[in-house]
Amino acid sequence: MTTTTNDVIVIGGGHNGMIAACYLAKAGRSVTVVEALPTIGGMSATNTIFPEAPDHLINEGGLDVTLLRCSNIVKELALEKYGFGQIVPDPPYAYLNQDGSSLCIWRDPVKTADEIKYFSPKDAKAYIEFVNSISIMMDGVLRFMRTHPTRPNLIDLAIGGAKMLAHPSKLWGLTRYLSSSHAEFIEETFEHDMVRGPLASMVPFLPIEAESTGWALIYFAVIHGVGVSRIIGGSGGLTDALARCLAAHGGTVRTSAKVDQIIVDNNRVRGVELVGGERLYADTVISAANAKVTLLNMVPKGTLPHKEQIQANHIPIATGRASSFKIDIALREQVRMTRHQAWRKQHMGDDTDLRIPGHCSLPYENHIKSWNDCMAGRLPSPLHNFTIFPAHADPTQVPKGQDSVWYWCGVAPTQPTEPWATLKERATREAYQYMSQFYDDIEGIEIARRVMTPDDLAEHFNVPFGYVYHVDTTVSRFGPFRPSPAYADFTTPVEGLFLSGASMHPCAGIAGIPGQLAARVALRKTAGGK
Ligand SMILES: Cc1cc2nc3c(=O)[nH]c(=O)nc-3n(C[C@H](O)[C@H](O)[C@H](O)COP(=O)(O)OP(=O)(O)OC[C@H]3O[C@@H](n4cnc5c(N)ncnc54)[C@H](O)[C@@H]3O)c2cc1C
Repeated sequence: MTTTTNDVIVIGGGHNGMIAACYLAKAGRSVTVVEALPTIGGMSATNTIFPEAPDHLINEGGLDVTLLRCSNIVKELALEKYGFGQIVPDPPYAYLNQDGSSLCIWRDPVKTADEIKYFSPKDAKAYIEFVNSISIMMDGVLRFMRTHPTRPNLIDLAIGGAKMLAHPSKLWGLTRYLSSSHAEFIEETFEHDMVRGPLASMVPFLPIEAESTGWALIYFAVIHGVGVSRIIGGSGGLTDALARCLAAHGGTVRTSAKVDQIIVDNNRVRGVELVGGERLYADTVISAANAKVTLLNMVPKGTLPHKEQIQANHIPIATGRASSFKIDIALREQVRMTRHQAWRKQHMGDDTDLRIPGHCSLPYENHIKSWNDCMAGRLPSPLHNFTIFPAHADPTQVPKGQDSVWYWCGVAPTQPTEPWATLKERATREAYQYMSQFYDDIEGIEIARRVMTPDDLAEHFNVPFGYVYHVDTTVSRFGPFRPSPAYADFTTPVEGLFLSGASMHPCAGIAGIPGQLAARVALRKTAGGK
């Protein structure tokens, strides 16, 4: 078998792996990224997948970008020079009701509250108070998310803390919101379903009634604070720019190259062995694949010491028993939303093109039931859903006059009592029936579709249950506890082996910070630092 030698091998060409690779190559290391799939991008890839619609660009995973915008990665890697560009749609989101009404969540919280007034003046006031209160936390939280979780920049954190302490009267409210469940906070604070619905639908990270899940609502501070963007050409535009940046610094990418085993000798990493037997040697390996998969399936059995092995075994993935169900559709015409557009014209007096924002529409009352259904292995009905027509913000993604649908259900059972192989068809029918309440005759203008169950996503991305957050997003798996204390500093007991990716601090999503921080740690350690 051929062998190649590098300074660094990065496992996984998702955006975090590519970002880690770019930083290391920029620092002068020879770097090779090995990616199992035929293209890079992982859960933020954009590919052509339909032979019947060869010019439709399909976003395989995430679309909405927030956390990357809070980092300095685009600037430090000069990604705009390599073709990276973003669009900031406003409004980024709209909640659609089955009766034709809608509520837009605008970048501006005051504009959003003005729209809420139509449904409930009381909720409009509560919304502004809610956004003002969580926004106080934002600065401190973002500073923590950008820093090393176990060796934080204390001066930076102190500045964030001082900003929070400048509002002592609001701090009690913040602790309440962090300790309550997502459902409890919504019900206690808001009365109208048009407000409760989006607050539940847009952040379906954790079982809505579980303790300390109210934190998920900080996403609303992010929407209003930094805005939500979409990447021009689809999310894969990010990894395409990163690939150009990597090449410019001498790095290489190997696709269709799945790592079978990490080579360890005398508790030191030596490289990786690909499926098929080829060996690539390096003194540093960074895995940006799922942390649990890396530690349990790629590191040779018996390598990890007892405590680290136990912590790896117990890294929690989708313990709420819910994950994603996704449908991608190519359309031959542009979608129409006749009823909802007419309602806005008549009641809001505006011509906002509702096809630009992302849509959610599950009524609040269904959320608790959906999570309980997943826990019991049942398919919820209706399904949680989030739908985007990416080409309306960025027409480069489809041929002129055509369209595509990105449909995501974030609360689908991971262990259904009826296997996904047969449940798939029922879930697909359910999704289309539900969509038909909002979009005029999608099936009539369909060219092709692809349906992905949690099992399909798991196999495709090599992440258990196809879990988009890689590791549970509970408060107990944040910062120095993500994915577990033994691995939170990006190192492992195997010298030269580091972890990165969505499993790591600060979080999943199109963020890039796990890639940036892992590269910094690897550079420091390989330069002889502690
Ligand atoms: C349907 C869906 C919707 C989402 N929506 C959003 C959204 O709107 N906004 C947002 O911010 N986030 C969203 N996310 C989440 C976000 O896309 C991911 O958390 C993020 O892209 C993870 O990036 P990563 O680089 O850490 O990991 P990944 O993208 O998972 O990359 C890991 C890579 O490692 C590769 N790999 C795995 N095993 C091996 C191996 N043995 N050998 C070689 N390569 C291997 C995989 O093929 C993959 O390419 C969504 C995800 C999905 C799937």
